[in-house]
Amino acid sequence: MSMSAEQEVLKQRLDEIEKRIQAACERSNRKREDVKIIAVTKYVGAETIGDLLAVGVEHIGENRLQDALPKYQQYGDRGHWHFIGHLQTNKAKEVVGRFAYIHSLDRISLAQELNKRGEALNQVVSCFLQINISGEETKFGLSPDDVLAFLQETSNMKHIKIVGLMTMAPVVDNPDEARFVFRGLAEWKDRINEWNFPHAEVTELSMGMSSDFEVAIEEGATYIRLGSILVKPE
Ligand SMILES: *Cc1c(COP(=O)(O)O)cnc(C)c1O
Repeated sequence: MSMSAEQEVLKQRLDEIEKRIQAACERSNRKREDVKIIAVTKYVGAETIGDLLAVGVEHIGENRLQDALPKYQQYGDRGHWHFIGHLQTNKAKEVVGRFAYIHSLDRISLAQELNKRGEALNQVVSCFLQINISGEETKFGLSPDDVLAFLQETSNMKHIKIVGLMTMAPVVDNPDEARFVFRGLAEWKDRINEWNFPHAEVTELSMGMSSDFEVAIEEGATYIRLGSILVKPE
């Protein structure tokens, strides 16, 4: 089967990104297979998702439910879908059952709603706890000071499990300036695992975007969320 021009372009961009991922893995002594790409498709339409899947992308990330639903309707049976944006509590029920992972769990009310919906569908909802490491007021995410209490309060919720942590790094000129945020999130993974909560066995770190994914990989990212470098906004 031959590739369309659009697919050729995506494949070329993926090849370039792949080299950079491999180099970052080598620098930090990590295995390439431990880093997965989430293609963030918020800038583009469903047809680009079809092209991404056709050239081998396995993870699709969307941050707004209304935009994501029609795309999901078309391609939801292919790939693994990640909800990466801020999630309103009243929208949670539409995300559960569709998206395999929710990266933006950041408050008790949302945990309660996800748990309730998971129970109704008889499934366990895989979540990433979003932590605001940088402390910027404009960013969503649980404050590090509240993480322990959050885990205690959610420990009886049988239909959610926290498989990973997610953070948004500050916008900086030099990606190295964001390193402390990635390192900080990785430290929270170790700390949480030491607490041994049965519902929070954290193996994944969702961190790093187009401008800083190499630094994130060096600090332990297992999912990098790539938008503009892969699907350029018009
Ligand atoms: C848009 C977005 C990304 C991707 O950003 P790029 O800089 O375009 O790679 C990653 N994560 C979240 C939560 C986003 O909203």
